[in-house]
Amino acid sequence: MSNDTFRDLSQNPLVQRLGVPRIPVLRRHTPGAPLLAGPALVGSVGGGRFAEPMRALLKDAGVPESMTDSSLAGGDDGRLAAVVLDATAARTLDDLAAAQEFLTPAVRRLAPNGRLLLLGPEPDADDVEAAAVAQALDGIVRSAAKEVRAGATANLLVVHPDAPPASVDSSVRFLLSARSAYVDGQVVHVGVPVGPVLDPVGMDSPYDVDRPLAGRVAVVTGAARGIGAAIADTLARDGAVIVAVDVPAAGAALADVANRTGGTALQLDITATDAAERLLAHLRERHGRVDVVVHNAGITRDKLLANMDADRWNAVLAVNLRAQLALNAALLEGDLLSDTGRIVCVASTSGIAGNRGQSNYAASKAGVIGMVRALAPRLAQRGATVNAVAPGFIETEMTARMPLGTREAGRRINSLRQGGLPVDVAETVGWLAQAESGGVTGQVVRVCGQSMIGA
Ligand code: NAD
Repeated sequence: MSNDTFRDLSQNPLVQRLGVPRIPVLRRHTPGAPLLAGPALVGSVGGGRFAEPMRALLKDAGVPESMTDSSLAGGDDGRLAAVVLDATAARTLDDLAAAQEFLTPAVRRLAPNGRLLLLGPEPDADDVEAAAVAQALDGIVRSAAKEVRAGATANLLVVHPDAPPASVDSSVRFLLSARSAYVDGQVVHVGVPVGPVLDPVGMDSPYDVDRPLAGRVAVVTGAARGIGAAIADTLARDGAVIVAVDVPAAGAALADVANRTGGTALQLDITATDAAERLLAHLRERHGRVDVVVHNAGITRDKLLANMDADRWNAVLAVNLRAQLALNAALLEGDLLSDTGRIVCVASTSGIAGNRGQSNYAASKAGVIGMVRALAPRLAQRGATVNAVAPGFIETEMTARMPLGTREAGRRINSLRQGGLPVDVAETVGWLAQAESGGVTGQVVRVCGQSMIGA
């Protein structure tokens, strides 16, 4: 049983007979599980250069490839676990029509929890039709995400013209896998990877599907409970060495997280004036470097703007934004962040759409997004990336305490018709934390099931 009683009830055939729609049970990652539960169909329009490398990636992951003709389908029932279209070379309305021709029969065959993934071009400012077509793909994906059923998702990777084929691999793997269960209707840009050129997949150091973060040192703030604890658990499962940070008052829970992940605990109020200094000293002494920094600690002190006071305002801004600015500045100045450094900031859909009673919280989370965009080019110079994940409605202690009506509304107003789990945010952080994700920087990825709020 989950804490979503309505979703659990909707699985009952008797309840379904009353006309109550079934709310899908999302497939989530378990170590050792295959990338996809069935065959994938890969197509391209306009002669894109990513279809063949993606076929190779899928083959490498043991995914059978299906043919366009459904009579040649690999799945027992003709169902497809994934439909992938390389439209990076699409420039004309004829290319767009070819995309529709490929997608329509393919989407009909999409299995429950299936994945629709499009790769598109950056808009070309010198070619108006090509720019329109590039943006049209956005419309296709966002609409398809609202149409596909039974836990299926649709997402778009917008690929830089100079990005080498391998630069999309970690993003393709993530968006096809069960790790991206609650990432839906998203558009993520992939550029030329920053930092050192990594070995192509399957060459000198084969990509370890189950431990993509092997040996990476990862700091997680606010790690004692909730989403932060899930991030620590998930990154550790994927092979990272965890430095779990939280306030001294959460010391016992923090120690539990550090023990079960085999990491270290650092009791630290991130708003203290010497917080960055103490954290960097801990990292220098214990590990000599840091590969991943997850700014997850966050608080709310809700009040209408008309009734806001300086204490509530300053408390929220101090934890959610000021502390991140200070630590990032220290990381930029110092030499501890490794040359595949990854900073991941937890924002919120409130920072995108705003939320009644949350002008302070939304200011802090929108501020995080602004910070990420400004930091990305600065960090790129030293090979590091910075991105934000923006969770929507996530089933946590915080959301469990909401009044029933507000909670139900929050859960249902997204394409997957349910709240996400802390692990869904954690898996997204895990993808951005990989050394292989160097092509993704300055992005804001919503983990919200394509929530209507702020879409
Ligand atoms: P939570 O309150 O359960 O956990 C936050 C953790 O941060 C706590 O362990 C707390 O002790 C720690 N923390 C707070 N102030 C700190 C400080 N000064 N120094 C060090 N640690 C500190 O919250 P959560 O629901 O797990 O949220 C985690 C993050 O996700 C936050 O940034 C939150 O804004 C964001 N978020 C949550 C949701 C949701 O639905 N729960 C939605 C969008 C965004």
